[in-house]
Amino acid sequence: MRTIFEKSTSGRRGVTLPRCDVPVVDTDGRSIPDRCKRTSPLNLCELSELDVVRHFTALSRMNFGVDNNLYPLGSCTMKYNPKVCERIAAQNGFSSIHPMMARLAGGHRHTQGALAVVHGLEGLLCRVTGMDAFTLQPMAGAHGELTGMMLIAAYHRKTGAVRREVLIPDEAHGTNPASAAAAGYAVRTVPTDTGSGLLDVEKLREITGDGTAALMMTNPNTLGLFNPRAAEIAEIVHSRGALLYCDGANMNAVMGKFRPGDCGFDVMHVNLHKTFATPHGGGGPGSGPVGVKAFLEPFLPTPRVVRVNAGDGLGYAFAPDDGYPDSIGPVAPFYGNFSVCLKAYAYILMMGGKGLLEASEQAVLNANYVMRSLLGFYEAPYPKTCMHECVLSAARQAEAGVRAVDIAKALIDRGFHPPTVYFPLIVKEALMFEPTETEGKEALDAFIGAMAEIAGIAASDPKSLHACPATTPVGRMDEARAAREMDVAFL
Ligand SMILES: *Cc1c(COP(=O)(O)O)cnc(C)c1O
Repeated sequence: MRTIFEKSTSGRRGVTLPRCDVPVVDTDGRSIPDRCKRTSPLNLCELSELDVVRHFTALSRMNFGVDNNLYPLGSCTMKYNPKVCERIAAQNGFSSIHPMMARLAGGHRHTQGALAVVHGLEGLLCRVTGMDAFTLQPMAGAHGELTGMMLIAAYHRKTGAVRREVLIPDEAHGTNPASAAAAGYAVRTVPTDTGSGLLDVEKLREITGDGTAALMMTNPNTLGLFNPRAAEIAEIVHSRGALLYCDGANMNAVMGKFRPGDCGFDVMHVNLHKTFATPHGGGGPGSGPVGVKAFLEPFLPTPRVVRVNAGDGLGYAFAPDDGYPDSIGPVAPFYGNFSVCLKAYAYILMMGGKGLLEASEQAVLNANYVMRSLLGFYEAPYPKTCMHECVLSAARQAEAGVRAVDIAKALIDRGFHPPTVYFPLIVKEALMFEPTETEGKEALDAFIGAMAEIAGIAASDPKSLHACPATTPVGRMDEARAAREMDVAFL
């Protein structure tokens, strides 16, 4: 496909503006100084309106999203994002307010709805997770982790403890060690017990000490396995004066079943753009709210939205920041990604508690259906009941020269998004599937059929899979070359 610049034709216009019918004014002192004006023409492409429409329509068809087909990218919860939530977020009363309005004197009169959304969503997330208070500011899961680590650091600083180390299991999402390191901590790995696929509790008992600031734990973990010993782990961590962080990006498996706040977790983040059905990936910005137990609430980012009873009929306002002297301060401009929060709020209200519970049950059922159906075709390092995602291995196929990446590319030719591959790192040739609850049985069966077919080809004609994908505008790329031989020269 030609680039939009290659399609450009000199002098072609998409719009024609009417002739200016007011005098051109160069206000004294306010005009742009000559030294700031460009001397060469701006190198823009010149196209008609129809050229532009065709260009972007063609681009959109090359994209793959949840709205195209099953997107089983493990650890990403690529579930369907209900369109009604987009309608709600686009309503004028929400989309036309300015983020500064609420903080101007009297401005909260005009922003009660938005403040109610912030306060209401914080409350609902507390109910889902068992935490006592939430902040909606962090703009991604990783940003939530960093915020959580900053809260933990602020707490230890306040108590006068010097603790420099954060413990992280070896199967954790890569953002966990990165966030702990970004917050200034040294990272120490806790091994996984290879038999159970769960954190090695005895090893944890051994290495947790006076220098431990926190343990970051994901439950269910990234092998899709639930750790029933969370309360015991919390006890070990707390007995040494450390705190327990929960990476809640996998909450989709346990809504209505397990609340980290009931099991000794002190801080956690959730991913609204995974569990609570707001678009992500190429489709939209994220949001990673952070919840804490009551003793950590004073450290949360400001500003805080609170309920007020001012006698003027208005129910919500920003609390004055000076009421939070221990706060770590803002971690994002304004109040986080408000429209993402609004969509998640609408989603949670639409689902209700029972709906969220059913979503988790269905997500777990779907993942187990996929795993069981593929057991005869692929190796399973942990073939027991999984949660919302399952990890298989292409180790058997690799003996014939077909690696996980070849299977991923072959799925593209069959109309499916690939699974997560080579993660978690502790599984050889890992293929990690998360079908989510929004897929029906027909879609799952079609996907299982494609995976079975690929396993057959891997056995009979392994070399042919190296040529996949063959149906896409761009074939197999060297995925690392752009980073290694960076060329950012533009025209
Ligand atoms: C997705 C994910 C994260 C990171 O979330 P982002 O929004 O991508 O920053 C962290 N941990 C786990 C387990 C995840 O699945």
